[in-house]
Amino acid sequence: MVGKRGPILITCQNPDCTYFQIEDGKNITKNGHNSAGNQQYYCHHCRRFFIETKNTPLYDSRLPRTAVLIIAKHSTEKTSIRGVSRVTGHHRDTISRYYHLIGEHAEKLNDYFIHDISAGDCEMDEIWEFVQKKTRIS
Ligand SMILES: [Zn+2]
Repeated sequence: MVGKRGPILITCQNPDCTYFQIEDGKNITKNGHNSAGNQQYYCHHCRRFFIETKNTPLYDSRLPRTAVLIIAKHSTEKTSIRGVSRVTGHHRDTISRYYHLIGEHAEKLNDYFIHDISAGDCEMDEIWEFVQKKTRIS
């Protein structure tokens, strides 16, 4: 029995593709999982495969997703790198690297909302507040 397929919420992550991060007109299909267990996708426009974590701090991560999420939660609480290192047991250089990746990703997300969607400062505060609430629930 084949399960019902859900909608594909991801856009093409290939910067050379004409449908790079464009929702309308995309033609993407799921294409199994890689060895790390991440969903793989195929873009029919550029004929490239990509992983669901592409362009995120989780891409090519040596740590499991749960460990990265714990580090991300500590980064939002502004916990010190040495403090997170003591709590999680990971080296402080690893924590520092993920703090940097998470910060870069948050900056890109902020720029996307401000420039591409033209959200104002108040709307951005509301979006980040929503993200923090969703993080607390999960
Ligand atoms: Zn593409």
